[in-house]
Amino acid sequence: MNIQKSFENEQEGAIYFVPTPIGNLEDITYRALKILKEATVIAAEDTRNTKKLLNYFEITNPLTSYHEHNKREKTDQFVIQAKEGAKIALVSDAGMPAISDPGSELVQAAIAADVKVVVLPGANAALCALVGSGLETDAFYFYGFLPRKKKEKEAVLTRLKKLDASIIFYESPFRVKDTVAVLYEQLGNRKITLARELTKRFEEYIRGSMEEVLAWTEKSELKGEFVIVVEGTSEADLLEAEEDWWSALGVVAHVKHYIEKDGLTSKEAIKQTAVDRKLPKREVYQAYHVENE
Ligand code: SAM
Repeated sequence: MNIQKSFENEQEGAIYFVPTPIGNLEDITYRALKILKEATVIAAEDTRNTKKLLNYFEITNPLTSYHEHNKREKTDQFVIQAKEGAKIALVSDAGMPAISDPGSELVQAAIAADVKVVVLPGANAALCALVGSGLETDAFYFYGFLPRKKKEKEAVLTRLKKLDASIIFYESPFRVKDTVAVLYEQLGNRKITLARELTKRFEEYIRGSMEEVLAWTEKSELKGEFVIVVEGTSEADLLEAEEDWWSALGVVAHVKHYIEKDGLTSKEAIKQTAVDRKLPKREVYQAYHVENE
């Protein structure tokens, strides 16, 4: 167990997770600027990129890199520095650190070492897109980037298909069209929203059915950054999926399932299997007895 009181003993070190704008520089908060100005060191995914942001706000604190390839050593180093009283501020290229960006390992390491983790609220593409999508916001599931290979995408979507919640994906403009096609194939003609270039001059929402939005991707030039938000499963789909729970089983396995899992007699199981599969009882009986004699 770990209890953190973020604002006790403020002279102690801490690691701050500071969101930066996803396009519009006005989306940085006063507090984010204050923390960046007070930081012992600012750790950035791409220092050249962050330098531009810091120059714009006239922040000159020391800057260091923190990315996929050095995060192991840097994590240890930041935790030690914070233990000694340093204020480390982590930023990513855009939006919230640790959301499809480096940062979560640093949170875990800090917690393990009893170093304060202070997360500032701020810009995040997923939440903006969800709210603007017009889809359900009570329950949602953030997936981030789907795998690139079609087979792997399909495997993920088979799992997500049953979710009764809006689903949020990040995607590169080069793959949006193919991804929408796979989403349509796997999830059916649900509602979908593409949120493009959020907070920027060419911000755009493309809202419609999968069929409509896929047609749009086929005739449009897909440029800029995209978030994809997809409607969750409907109750009718869920019921249908439940009704067809046996579709991956053969006839005999279907009968055995009723016997072994539901405690039905073989006679009852054969009858129920025949009803489910809309088959003559005799056919199920024969299949079952041929294999079990
Ligand atoms: N940490 C970021 C956040 O909090 O949103 C996400 C970083 S992830 C590496 C980058 C992806 O976020 C992009 O490929 C795109 O899918 C999405 N994204 C970032 N900025 C965006 C914007 N202005 N409009 C639409 N999508 C954006």
